[in-house]
Amino acid sequence: MDTILVINAGSSSLKFEVFSTKDGLTKLFRGQMEGIATAPRLRVNGRDGKILADQKHAPADVPDLPAAMQIVGAWLREKDEGRLVAAGHRVVHGGPDYDRPVRITKEILRDLERYVPLAPLHQPNNLAPIHAILDRQPDLPQVACFDTSFHRGQSLVANHYAIPERFFAEGVQRYGFHGLSYEYVAGRLREVAPDIANGRVITAHLGSGASLCALFEGKSIETTMGFTALDGLPMGTRCGQIDPGVLLYLLDQKGMSPKDVQNLLYNQSGLKGLSGVSNDMRALLASDDPRAAFALDHFVYRIAFYAGALAAALGGIDAFVFTAGIGENSPEMRARIAARLEWLGVRLDPEKNINGELLISKPDSSPELYVVPTDEELMIARHTLKLIGG
Ligand code: ADP
Repeated sequence: MDTILVINAGSSSLKFEVFSTKDGLTKLFRGQMEGIATAPRLRVNGRDGKILADQKHAPADVPDLPAAMQIVGAWLREKDEGRLVAAGHRVVHGGPDYDRPVRITKEILRDLERYVPLAPLHQPNNLAPIHAILDRQPDLPQVACFDTSFHRGQSLVANHYAIPERFFAEGVQRYGFHGLSYEYVAGRLREVAPDIANGRVITAHLGSGASLCALFEGKSIETTMGFTALDGLPMGTRCGQIDPGVLLYLLDQKGMSPKDVQNLLYNQSGLKGLSGVSNDMRALLASDDPRAAFALDHFVYRIAFYAGALAAALGGIDAFVFTAGIGENSPEMRARIAARLEWLGVRLDPEKNINGELLISKPDSSPELYVVPTDEELMIARHTLKLIGG
């Protein structure tokens, strides 16, 4: 059996999933090494949820991503499940040039390093496992799939900031992220609701990171994130849209360093900053702290606010789609967001919403409401298989 390894590497965790290429793509197992450098723990689950591995490691043994990659690689070799034919990687930034997934060569890898300044917190982590595999198995085909690619077809009007043009030329553009998720959802809509898929759709990817994407005929025409994954909606710990004047104030008047500002906006803001309780939606929904309730009100308000903006970009909408951790699993948040969209003609069916059905709006609702679980790993596996000629 031939297999494809999909890797999604973050700052403190390395997630992976292994697919068999037989009969299309079948998931075999998924795992993650979390707590890298602090409390490393490798956990792997089979397709049926069965625990295949649960190992704790000493922090000194797993100080960084390459070390985590070594341990995951050793576990995979010992598991010996088929013949690995390729590795597919989630890479956050494809810069202005990469509008589709690409098979990695040393030259392309050097090119992708150039985008580190555009995503300093994510890009180096995404590239580290590629280097590690290249060192150990230089002949294994590797494919990079970018979070930005799906949005690259947006119009120049949409992807510009109103600053002098020379900055656009050097890469200061609105890129947008969560592209693999939106691409998967757009494809899935073509299967389950083809008429809608060809129309005007707003998809809400609501997880730890959150954004909205306006899809016209399955293509991204607008999204709430921009140059970085900080823009748009407030998220678990990220601020979302903020007046750049606030940054000038923090730097000039409060004497904060760029590093402090970065930490504030990426790690201490959003739901966590507003509530002072948690960045986690489940914890906020369970809390009776009024600040948690306020953070949720703000989150819902901003989603509805941006939905209005994206509806304007699309010239109306035919469907609104929920996806990712919150969108897929929280009937309460879906109901609260839907209530704010009633002015657009949305009519939620409360029972279908509680049951988490695919179509959760009433027959007279226009736009319709859908819940479509996302699968970024499967999207990466598909691209990888395609690029190696499978
Ligand atoms: P990421 O992959 O970016 O870490 P996810 O898409 O897994 O994020 O989403 C994580 C978010 O989803 C967390 O805020 C979590 O609390 C929320 N979530 C997961 N399950 C539920 C649920 N049943 N009800 C409400 N929120 C949930």
